[in-house]
Amino acid sequence: MENRHPSPQALRAPRVSFVSLGCPKALVDSERIITRLRAEGYELVRSHSGADLAVVNTCGFLDSAQAESLAAIGQALNENGKVIVTGCMGAEPEKITARYPGVLAITGPQQYESVVAAVHRALPPRHDPFVDLLPPEGIKLTPRHYAYLKISEGCNNRCSFCIIPKLRGNLISRPAADVLREAERLIAAGVKELLVISQDTSAYGSDLNYAASAWNGCEVRAKFLDLARALGELGAWVRLHYVYPYPHVDEVVPLMAEGKVLPYLDIPFQHAAPAVLRRMKRPAAQEKTLQRIARWREICPDLTIRSTFIVGFPGESEEDFRCLLDWLDAAELDRVGCFRYEPVAGALANELAAAVPDAVKEERWHRFMGHQQAISARRLKRRVGTRQQVIIDEVHTGARSRSDTAGAGATVAKGRTRGDAPQIDGTVHVASRRPLRRGEIATVRIERADEYDLHGTVVGF
Ligand code: SF4
Repeated sequence: MENRHPSPQALRAPRVSFVSLGCPKALVDSERIITRLRAEGYELVRSHSGADLAVVNTCGFLDSAQAESLAAIGQALNENGKVIVTGCMGAEPEKITARYPGVLAITGPQQYESVVAAVHRALPPRHDPFVDLLPPEGIKLTPRHYAYLKISEGCNNRCSFCIIPKLRGNLISRPAADVLREAERLIAAGVKELLVISQDTSAYGSDLNYAASAWNGCEVRAKFLDLARALGELGAWVRLHYVYPYPHVDEVVPLMAEGKVLPYLDIPFQHAAPAVLRRMKRPAAQEKTLQRIARWREICPDLTIRSTFIVGFPGESEEDFRCLLDWLDAAELDRVGCFRYEPVAGALANELAAAVPDAVKEERWHRFMGHQQAISARRLKRRVGTRQQVIIDEVHTGARSRSDTAGAGATVAKGRTRGDAPQIDGTVHVASRRPLRRGEIATVRIERADEYDLHGTVVGF
């Protein structure tokens, strides 16, 4: 009979031994790497022989320090065999490979992402669906300054086009204290922005009866609002993704107005025509949704709303589609994504009504995108002339800015406002006289907007 039980080895956390040599700066680097590895579920052990992998953070300042570093690498190779080298000596890798060609990877000082990526390659983190950002087949290392924070798994809704509940089961939420501890660890490791994710963020805790758990001497309920408030106290940007439009979502908007969480809501509305929404098994009162959006904007005028829609859903008529376009005009959403309906095997929606021909889906998708593009561009233009907080994602030093308002030699960087999520929303192209660092938050005067992006100059920090 097939043995379905994983070995104890597979169940335990991957173990890493760590040697830190050199000055206090190197020590801080080591702390950062260790914190990051711990946050990802690695266990730190004292002896190389008890570890699955060894990391040596070297010092190369003096010959004697180099000799000590080389000796430490040799010892790790003898006792463990799998060794990654980082730190100052990593700037001269040939000195290491000449003596120890068997080391797995060499990275230079302060290359935290590269060290962690090398550890992932040699010793993949154990998949824990409650802690991991992405499933094992798609592990991606985000830059150090932002991180995804998964608060629950599964979903209790039964949208007819979606098979996620079949694949992942019903909602299982993490206790609030568990989420908050992970958030604290991430922030300690240098994360400046937490991207809260789940299949259905606003349903968080309903499976736990919103039970409270102890965190930092107080009780925090496993409730969307309570968790958002507690996360907002940690000092990082907090961005809420995948919020199903339940009525209680309204409660979180005042927190956005107060600056506790980012004024950003990612709500997949999916459609606007009542008949389509009913077949989708989504909330169908779209007029009320328009009123709610208007109210949210009254409470929090800076609110950015991102959404996704599906066109060509089975049975979608031209009239339904026009209803959707009219609704987009009224809702004036900031950022919108659109998918052509795909008949995923096992989805109930495939049996509910006649399929829309591919050519019609395509034509509607283009009409939808053209229509929304004008709305998004109009919304973006409203930011021209304002001052926005921008988190820096990429820095290109030495380049001249396109607007050149900051003068020759200005840093040209890319960043995002509080209204832009990484990977999916727009970018701010930033000119600055002062050097910028990734993860830094600067005040930027917005000078112009193009179709998707903004351009501006740093005016403060
Ligand atoms: S679309 Fe989202 S809310 Fe609907 S069933 Fe799928 S995961 Fe749940």
